[in-house]
Amino acid sequence: MSSLSKNLSELTTKQIYFFDLDGTIYLGDKLFEGVIDLIELLRAKGKNFYFLSNNSSISTNDYLKKLNNFNLNITRENLILSQHPTIDYLKKNKIKKIFLLGTQSLKQEFTQEDFELTEEDPEILVLAFDKELTYDRLVKATQFLLKDNLAYIATHLDNKCPTENSYIPDAGGIAALLYKATDRMPRVFGKPNKDMLLFKLEQLGIVPKDSVMVGDRLYTDIKMGKEAGVTTCCVLSGEITLEMIKNSEYKPDFIINGIWELLEEFNKI
Ligand SMILES: [Mg+2]
Repeated sequence: MSSLSKNLSELTTKQIYFFDLDGTIYLGDKLFEGVIDLIELLRAKGKNFYFLSNNSSISTNDYLKKLNNFNLNITRENLILSQHPTIDYLKKNKIKKIFLLGTQSLKQEFTQEDFELTEEDPEILVLAFDKELTYDRLVKATQFLLKDNLAYIATHLDNKCPTENSYIPDAGGIAALLYKATDRMPRVFGKPNKDMLLFKLEQLGIVPKDSVMVGDRLYTDIKMGKEAGVTTCCVLSGEITLEMIKNSEYKPDFIINGIWELLEEFNKI
């Protein structure tokens, strides 16, 4: 594994740590080694840390439950999810009635945020990671997009989602299916949109180079980090192999096997 980064000391000097979730912090229900100790260490050192996910099949509340079941003791403040900038956009544009391709968990979040979920006369179609999708709803979505030329946005467009047992089709896969039927693609709010990182940096008054984005995907995590001007670190515990990095236009600043190597580096100090 000679292509892995040798000198990781720069990674311990940052003020903000952005972590992708699926494939970086855990795979499905299996938390990677070292995560709990790393988070405790960052907290003790007064560093800021955020968990970012495009996976909008889970509501903010359910993410909190999931992460705190791993004993990470985090709050809503530590989460940046693709539904957050999406909901922000809808509110800013005063859009209320939504046809949502999403799970019950996400529907609850939208309802709590005062949106009206409708099957009849929506103002917009919002595509999320809908693990409860039926053919009947694909038909409705297709008809809204073709017949009514309805406005169309997506929380994110990852093609596939890593699980303990290979991959499952993600929102990008669903969008591809709708594209074949309608010739339309949605506007996207989650990763790799660099605003996912920049709004937090601006809020805290931290310059991009004092932060690092750690993730397992080149076309979302690493692309977004590079475009935002933050240091990027790719883990090989999820979707990406060294071969894929070699062939990609998005080259991370650092490559490590997994998040546990970041903990090892902090323990050297
Ligand atoms: Mg990931």
